Amino acid sequence: MEDFIYESLPTRVVFGDGKLSTLSDEINRLGASRVLILSAPHQTEMAHGLVNHLEGCCVGLFTEAAMHTPVDVTEKAVRLANDVKADALVSFGGGSTVGLGKAVALHTGLPQIAIPTTYAGSEMTDILGQTEHGVKTTLRHPLVQPKVVIYDVSLTLSLPVAVSVNSGLNAMAHAVEALYALDRNPVVSLVAEEGIRALSEALPLIVSQPRDNQSRNQAQYGAWLCGICLGSAGMALHHKLCHVLGGSFNLPHAEMHAVLLPHTAAYNAPCAPQAMLRVARALKAQDAGMALWQLAHSVGAPMALKDIGMSQRDIDSAVTLVMQKPYWNPRRITYEGIRYLLSRAWAGEPPQP
Ligand code: NAD
Repeated sequence: MEDFIYESLPTRVVFGDGKLSTLSDEINRLGASRVLILSAPHQTEMAHGLVNHLEGCCVGLFTEAAMHTPVDVTEKAVRLANDVKADALVSFGGGSTVGLGKAVALHTGLPQIAIPTTYAGSEMTDILGQTEHGVKTTLRHPLVQPKVVIYDVSLTLSLPVAVSVNSGLNAMAHAVEALYALDRNPVVSLVAEEGIRALSEALPLIVSQPRDNQSRNQAQYGAWLCGICLGSAGMALHHKLCHVLGGSFNLPHAEMHAVLLPHTAAYNAPCAPQAMLRVARALKAQDAGMALWQLAHSVGAPMALKDIGMSQRDIDSAVTLVMQKPYWNPRRITYEGIRYLLSRAWAGEPPQP
């Protein structure tokens, strides 16, 4: 057994079909009575339903959450939180909305209840990524960690299949990287393997039956576990690449994770054999990188960076950016190695170490 340090993040998790009904109780538990609800433009209707559900204790609704948490949107939401004298935040939506809730919590100190409706996993972390003038930065702070997370499977039934698949693969990337993280530990590794297994079984079922409660439930369970991994272990090459491609080339977040994951797993495989054994075991396969690639293919995920908006001429500048401030990674990061990886991912070729 390797030496390790284990520390868990303090979030109360309420999980189950119909658990949105516990929201009022959870607000009371926090001692709050003036809630600001945050959401995204495409979920305005669902958010209005929540306002009605909360009756007297909702003092405001802000539905302008956007990808990568733009600072100007946060400032607007903070002003509203102050104007309406909110004493708690309810973030209702995907990673973009939870990100906005985290940013507002950081500025105001208000407690946040997150109600995730995708599989992004942000709700289980104390990490905030935000953008200003096209530059994405991340920070960790206890204030951004949601106090309560309510997972209600009924809220994910409307998530389109393509978004579900990409979001699920985004979540699996957290677990894959947690397995070879420098600060990995036996508890998080168990959680990671189970998260990969749960999502890999659920995603193909969601593709064939998007409104099947049981598969959605399993996907949400997997997403929760993968979110724990992201909050508990340091991330490496895969997240670095996504950070660079998302921040500097504005590629869509979940799709980028979906395309890159098989390639980053294959790149790291020679230097993380135990981690890859566990990924392969979770996927009931021999080779982790190939199994992730086949899973992505089978569920109709995007397979090439060129198909999600990356230009071939940006490959070299992306490699340069990755080389400038590399994260710790089990395998040494070389210019040629990353260029090879990105070129294959750009073209949609199968992953190779
Ligand atoms: P998202 O929140 O932007 O949602 C994608 C789209 O799906 C949006 O249009 C949204 O309105 C819609 N949607 C969400 N749930 C729905 C539902 N149930 N039914 C119908 N439509 C629905 O995307 P995402 O992939 O969930 O999150 C990506 C963002 O999260 C990025 O900004 C990323 O940086 C951030 N993120 C942060 C962390 C962290 O720990 N800080 C972790 C993961 C992701």
